[in-house]
This record gives sequence, C-alpha cells and structure tokens, in this order.
Amino acid sequence: MRTYQMNNGLTIPAVGFGTYLSKDGDEVYNAVRKALDAGYRHIDTAAFYENEETIGRAIKDSGVPREELFITTKLWNDAHGYEEAKAAFKASMDRLQLDYLDLYLIHWPNPVSVRDRWQSANAQTWIAMEELVEAGQIRTIGLSNFMVHHLEELLKTAKIVPAINQLRLAPGVYQAEIVNYCKEKGIILQAWSPLGRGELFSHPTMLMMAKKYGKTVAQIALAWSWSQGFLPLPKSVTPSRIVENLDFQDIELSNDDIATITAIEVVTGAKNPDEIDF
Ligand code: NAD
Repeated sequence: MRTYQMNNGLTIPAVGFGTYLSKDGDEVYNAVRKALDAGYRHIDTAAFYENEETIGRAIKDSGVPREELFITTKLWNDAHGYEEAKAAFKASMDRLQLDYLDLYLIHWPNPVSVRDRWQSANAQTWIAMEELVEAGQIRTIGLSNFMVHHLEELLKTAKIVPAINQLRLAPGVYQAEIVNYCKEKGIILQAWSPLGRGELFSHPTMLMMAKKYGKTVAQIALAWSWSQGFLPLPKSVTPSRIVENLDFQDIELSNDDIATITAIEVVTGAKNPDEIDF
C-alpha cells in the first residue's frame, strides 16, 4: 500500500476505508473485517457515525498488529472547546478501545453551537488536541471541512500545523481555493465522498474512461483522486466493492484524461461549512 508522508514526518496509507452510514452492528463489523482482510490499513470513522465501538471490536478481532493500522476519528460539533475536546477524545478512545489514536480531526469548523465564537472554540479545541499529541495519546492532528479563512484563523494560535484537511473532493467537486492553499502549506487533502455520492456512476465521461482503461467508474474516480495528490476514503459495505475499491493502484491516467475528468460537472457540490445547519 502506497503511503504519503505528512508534515510531522509520519506516514499515512494513501487510501482509507470510509465508514459513514455503515450501520452499527453486523454491517460495519463485517465491512471493517472484510476491508482489513482485503488489505486496507487505514480506517476513517467519527464520533458522529456512532459505530466507533463496533469498529474497535472489529479491529481487535482482526488480529492485525496495531502498529500496522492507521485509525482516524473526529471530534463532533457538540465538543468544541478545551474541556469538551478532552472529554470527547476520551469517550472516542473508550469506544474504540485503543491505547493511542493515529489521527484526530475537528469534524466541522463552524457548527451552529459555536457559530458566534468559532475562532476561539477552534483555538481552544486545538490546544487540547496539541496536549494530547504531547502526551502521546494522538500521533497526528488535523481538520475537516475547513475553508481558507477557518485555517488562517487557526494558524494564528496553533503550535502544531495541521497535517490533514479532509474535504469533499471528487471528479466534479474540486474546491480549488482551499486545495491550493493546503498544498502550499503541506497539508494533505483527504477526499471524502471520493466516489461522488452516486452521481458519477452514470456520468458519460466516467463511463467512457472506465471503458477505455478496462476498469470501473469507482476505480477511475480513485485513480483521479491520486492524480491530484488526494487521499481518498472510499466507503462500501459490499465485499466485492470493498475489494474493487483497492484495485485501482495500477491505473495510470494520461494527462489529457486527468484534465477531462477534472472538468466534469456534477449537480451536487460541497456544502459551505459556514451555512451548515448542524
Ligand atoms: P463514497 O464516495 O465513498 O461512496 C458513496 C457510495 O458509493 C457508497 O455508499 C456505496 O453505496 C457506493 N459504492 C462504493 N463503492 C462502489 C463501487 N465500487 N461501485 C459502485 N458503487 C459503490 O461516499 P461517502 O461514504 O460519503 O464518503 C466516504 C467516506 O468519507 C465516509 O464513509 C466517511 O468515512 C468520510 N466522510 C467524511 C465526511 C466529513 O465531513 N469529514 C463526510 C462524509 C464522508
């Protein structure tokens, strides 16, 4: 499995396994076990997904050595603030049953609960996360859904520069301003919904590329994600698709085809985090 090097010197597997809306219980348990069997070593969850406990059990039961795994979870919108972040982290770790976490992300920059004071809420949350890094409980800290103004504000007080920003990125969903900003700062972009939430599967350009390369639309979308230097987090609970979504690593898209895929237009784009209602 290819890895990327982060700005703290550590490496991260260049594909992660998504688990949003993978139902708690057998569904997410079996999906994670299948993913680990298939060779994924990087799992993406969140307190909000309400499946951390089962994922922790699946990880333990898999027998894969802890040091081979890269586990991410995220701080939800009800836990911005210093004390809140420490408590939320502990609760996630209790559910995941891990001794340390590889990556902890602030899930959204500007939830409704702190919209009148998001700057200080993020700064305080970040101090708590930095302390957890210093204490050896988290290896790497980062962000999700942060736009340029949110990041610039955080960088005014941060001692640790975030290593990751997890954004909605897929063919047709290319958030150029924040992507370019993160690339300049050496912040790795993780791509959520890298398969485009359904729309891409019937897109004529994607179907044409799939035929040309003898691969599936999902695999073309993932190869495109890598062509942009992104770290895709494909999600599936279907065993054959879990395997399929790893089998794109040999695809070499031509520059012309990358440009054609990048120019795709889709109906549903990324939400503006300043306007989310949660
Ligand atoms: P995705 O793009 O990974 O998948 C979308 C859907 O495509 C899946 O539900 C599945 O039904 C289908 N699919 C998967 N593989 C397929 C295949 N090979 N062929 C055909 N259909 C296939 O979308 P996602 O789950 O929204 O995003 C991926 C992960 O990103 C999530 O599971 C989660 O871990 C993360 N995420 C993060 C945020 C955030 O705010 N940080 C938000 C959403 C998702």
